[in-house]
This record gives sequence, C-alpha cells and structure tokens, in this order.
Amino acid sequence: RFVTLEGGEGAGKSTTLAALRDYLRARDQEVVTTREPGGTALAEQIRALLLDPHHEPPAPETELLLMFAARAQHVREVILPALERGAWVISDRFTDSSYAYQGGGRGLDAGFIEQLEQRVVGIQPALTLLLDIGVVHGRERARGRDLPPDRIERERDEFFERVRDAFLERAAQEPGRFRVIDATQSIATVATQAVACLAERVEG
Ligand code: C5P
Repeated sequence: RFVTLEGGEGAGKSTTLAALRDYLRARDQEVVTTREPGGTALAEQIRALLLDPHHEPPAPETELLLMFAARAQHVREVILPALERGAWVISDRFTDSSYAYQGGGRGLDAGFIEQLEQRVVGIQPALTLLLDIGVVHGRERARGRDLPPDRIERERDEFFERVRDAFLERAAQEPGRFRVIDATQSIATVATQAVACLAERVEG
C-alpha cells in the first residue's frame, strides 16, 4: 500500500498525487499523502535548509546525508505508522530520488546509497510511478512555481539529463515495481494514466 511518484521538475507530480488520492478515497480507503524531502516538521526543516537559495549549495555528501536524515524521520514518524494501521501512503518522491539526484546527478556512489537505503530506510514502495519528461520541456513547465527560481536555472541541463537517465535506469532494473508514464502528455492525461496503473494494482 506504499506508492511513490518520481520524476523531474515540472512532470505533473502534484496533480497526479491528488488524482491518486481521490481515486483511493472514492473507494473508502484511508490515504496519507506526503512528500520528500519533507513530510514531518523536522524533515521539512531539513528541506528548507537544502533548498535555501540564500546560501551556497551543500557538498554532494552533505546533501545525500541530509536527504537520508530527513527520510529516516519521515519513514519512522509518518510512513510506517500509516502502513501499520492499513492506510495507503502516497509519497511525492522517495529513495529513488536519491539514486537519481545524488547518485546520477551528483555522481555519488550507488553502492553507498544502497547501504544507506538498507540501514536507514528499510522499506521500498510497492508501486513507483515515474513521470518521465525531457529536461527542457520540464523546465518550461516548472518555471515560476514553488521552487526558488534560481534553483532550476543554476543547475546545468546535463545534471538533469543524468537525473533523468538514472530514473529510467532504475525503472528498467525493477520493472515489477516501476511504471513509466510519458509526462510530455497533458497533465490531465498523465494523471489519468497514473490512476489506471494504481487501479490495476487495487482491482487486480
Ligand atoms: O519534487 P520537488 O520539486 O518538491 O523537489 C524539490 C527539489 O529538491 C527539487 O529541486 C529536486 O531537484 C530536489 N531534490 C534533490 N534530491 C532529492 C529529492 C529532491 O535534489 N533526493
């Protein structure tokens, strides 16, 4: 009952998350929606530190460990308790984002990320929907939204290409868990296809 949404900037994750939640609630299921980095008071403070446009970006290792510090808290405070009482949990980003951004994007060792995943996180989603969109297209859509405006601008396109490739590689390695959705389609279509993927799981 643990579902995650992954993908680059501007792929339509927020709209899709709301559609998944509405689908489950219409079936009288308890749903907890959450996000990373964040999802608890402490983890949201870590998010604010990480995304603060007023200081220099952290070293990649610092970024990785703060992501996992936030995730450790998120798992224990929100995700596990919800799953234990039988609720669905839908998270906007989870560990796959660390493999993509800190691994693929920043070049940190995937083996080290895997160790952190095993020792600090210990759970994996049952279903991960990857909203895949080309870098330039996604940036156009993401511009002017809730991110600090210079965050996207200051990253090079190659960084986001590496992030995208890393997501697609993970999806190819775990086809049972991942569904890849073409997020160049309208956001309404992306959301509809995501709901269909979830419905396949729910209704068998
Ligand atoms: O998904 P959302 O737009 O909320 O992500 C916030 C920011 O955090 C994005 O700029 C994303 O690139 C970054 N991020 C990251 N590493 C992660 C998760 C998110 O760099 N593991």
